[in-house]
Amino acid sequence: MEQLVSRQEMRQWSRDCRQRGHHIGFVPTMGALHDGHLSLVQRALAENDRVVASIFVNPTQFGPHEDFQLYPREPLVDAQRLQEAGCHALFLPGVADIYPDGPLTRIVVPGLEEELCGAFRPGHFQGVATVVAILLHLVGAERAYFGKKDYQQWVLIQRMVRDLAMPVQVVGMATVRESDGLAMSSRNRRLTPEQRPRALALYQGLLAARQAFAAGERQSRVLEERLLAILQQAPVDRVDYVSLRQGDTLTFSPLADNKSVLLVAAHVGGVRLIDNMELAHGSGPP
Ligand code: AMP
Repeated sequence: MEQLVSRQEMRQWSRDCRQRGHHIGFVPTMGALHDGHLSLVQRALAENDRVVASIFVNPTQFGPHEDFQLYPREPLVDAQRLQEAGCHALFLPGVADIYPDGPLTRIVVPGLEEELCGAFRPGHFQGVATVVAILLHLVGAERAYFGKKDYQQWVLIQRMVRDLAMPVQVVGMATVRESDGLAMSSRNRRLTPEQRPRALALYQGLLAARQAFAAGERQSRVLEERLLAILQQAPVDRVDYVSLRQGDTLTFSPLADNKSVLLVAAHVGGVRLIDNMELAHGSGPP
């Protein structure tokens, strides 16, 4: 596996691949890799001739009181895992490689970025959209892979790519979970043994809401309350939001249908957890 650090190295690798007629698949990450990340790499390997993953903990998407410093960093272990998975290249830029003149230009996706997580993390999605745009330009991939675990991010990136006519196909992948259902996340390792079972309430609440949907419940408010009740029982320490939205646009609707997704963000200890579920998924015929 090749290791690329500078913009020039990244661009050169990409040019070499294209000159050989290879299609490139790209998996952007912030590292501390788990099986969720690796599922994106595996799909990318199945669909492209060459796969590059990036690891960059992007400072501009963290608020001043968020966990930028605490975010786990283990590039050597990550590189090993990527190599074993068969990834062809790792792009591991420093902050100065991504923002050589400091971060100034920003991509704004109004209407999507202030919603849900954006309401609690002002500026977060501007940071995400901007760094993803920079990475997509440097990598020049045919396809880029994102997890639906970060559902709002996935919807927003798709919209940005369409609006800016970026020549890349955005592929969304199902959330990979621990055996008990907890959505895999690099932040899970900061949960203590006492907090870990309480964190499971997000998944259990989403499941309960999906079961209610499968049994015929269509009132968004009732489905949201089903999830909220389980969060309160656990209890989690703070709920940022529980919200039922249209899957493709993230707009509100008072009634759920087969395109609805239920999204949640909650804090357990010092860890902010997010999760979501497409209600029709796995719930049998409508
Ligand atoms: P991150 O390193 O958290 O920025 O995540 C990098 C990519 O992996 C994003 O597209 C995430 O949505 C995706 N991802 C993170 N966790 C999971 C998971 N449990 N299942 C599937 N994809 C995931």
